[in-house]
Amino acid sequence: MKKSPLESFSYRMISRCPMCSASAHNAHIELLDESADGNMLMYARCGSCKIGLLATLSTSQHGMQGAAIMTDLHKNEIEQFADTDPISADEVMNHVRWLRT
Ligand SMILES: [Zn+2]
Repeated sequence: MKKSPLESFSYRMISRCPMCSASAHNAHIELLDESADGNMLMYARCGSCKIGLLATLSTSQHGMQGAAIMTDLHKNEIEQFADTDPISADEVMNHVRWLRT
């Protein structure tokens, strides 16, 4: 029986937690977003140390590709930031000036 992308994500890409090495079987995995062409944004939380993992998955004729980063953000915080505008260069420069004062 063919596994769903969610199952493949848990067992192939993160068979173990990158932080505490706990098995991904105990991870809580959610699909946050999916585009019409099959690209997926997923969020996993380790069942042991509770670290978050944000991952993108895309499928092509060559197979499945993905990238993941560890995060201490919760799912609702990720969704909140996804709806905000990107940080502008002016905002970065204003913050640098603020740090120097
Ligand atoms: Zn862990």
